[in-house]
Amino acid sequence: MLIPVLSDKLSSEQKDYFCQNVSRSGDVVLLTHQNPDGDALGSSLAMRHFLQAIGRTDITNIVPTSFPDFLAWMPGAEEMVIYEQQPEWAAQRVREAELVICTDLAEAKRVAGLEDALASRTKPVLIIDHHLSAVCTEQPWQIAYPDSASASELVFRAVCDYVKRQPDAEELFGRILTPEFSTCIYTGMMTDTGNFSYNSCEPEMYTIIASLLTTGINKDAIYDKVFNAYSSDRMRLIGYCLYHKMRLFPEYHAALITLDRKEMYRFNAKSGDMEGIVNMPLQIKDIYYSVFMREDKIPPHQKGEAGAAKVKAKISFRSQGNRPVNTIARECFRGGGHMNAAGGEFFGTVGKAAEAFIREMPKYFAPAD
Ligand code: 5GP
Ligand code: MN
Repeated sequence: MLIPVLSDKLSSEQKDYFCQNVSRSGDVVLLTHQNPDGDALGSSLAMRHFLQAIGRTDITNIVPTSFPDFLAWMPGAEEMVIYEQQPEWAAQRVREAELVICTDLAEAKRVAGLEDALASRTKPVLIIDHHLSAVCTEQPWQIAYPDSASASELVFRAVCDYVKRQPDAEELFGRILTPEFSTCIYTGMMTDTGNFSYNSCEPEMYTIIASLLTTGINKDAIYDKVFNAYSSDRMRLIGYCLYHKMRLFPEYHAALITLDRKEMYRFNAKSGDMEGIVNMPLQIKDIYYSVFMREDKIPPHQKGEAGAAKVKAKISFRSQGNRPVNTIARECFRGGGHMNAAGGEFFGTVGKAAEAFIREMPKYFAPAD
């Protein structure tokens, strides 16, 4: 199988580190961020298929929290261990595995209660990530390129770099590039670019996709499984959010939607049901910033820092063009992310979080001319 011609992205130290570590023996844990999305699962499961193809057998995929139903069909998803369901066993695996590979994960705090287990490791941890984050370095163990649209793309690149160093590279590539591996990489690339509608102008993305499609995967069917698989509850929830809950701030080109626990209960909303609602107000002419807040319980590992708060607001920020939202996420809401897609949290109700946001917005969002 022809290995696609891609520009060199990883440094030679990163390639060395990747190749050496995936070639060693012993057990591997593959970890990704909480509330995993298509790129989190795609990058992590693609890594699983790759490691299996090169003969590794003791592989555990761990997600800190569960994933939505519309991603449950992904090849290998049935093997995922959900930390929240088996916390002690999962934490022990993270502490003790010979190798941990974190994909789509920039900050240790996005692994729910696994933070301490990860921090206590003395054996290798490899990070493959594309978030803009303070911890981005050019360390050999940290393949972190914020200009990449998805972590899945970086996994694909690292795998190509590995293959090119092996004897019979093309034959090996043919064994690695299975429909399962390709489906996972494609899903991650597709979901992190809104089906190639943003962050998607880089020509080599399409070189990679061309290679993935040679395995016979059906990209239209993948789109259908991810984007046309919502419940009727979700459609009604969207209607409610847009009709009753969306507040517009034309002077800042901004929209805000909040949902409290009672409202989520009324619409039987599960975590995946709220996916993407934050993007919708951006379809309005002259709205360039969108913020979505939903109320969550305080998880056990945050009880201490939450103080007297009984609930927290999980906040998503989106923007278009050269208008950063990661700054307000980082400075006001304990979060971070990319320039156009960021997130954070606030200990308290969504009502209080909205008040805080409205107070801070003028400092961070460019006002209308
Ligand atoms: P979402 O709004 O889809 O949950 O997250 C969008 C992006 O924001 C993620 O890809 C991630 O980069 C970032 N993000 C979301 N929540 C958090 C958070 O709590 N902390 C940090 N540092 N980044 C977050
Ligand atoms: Mn991602």
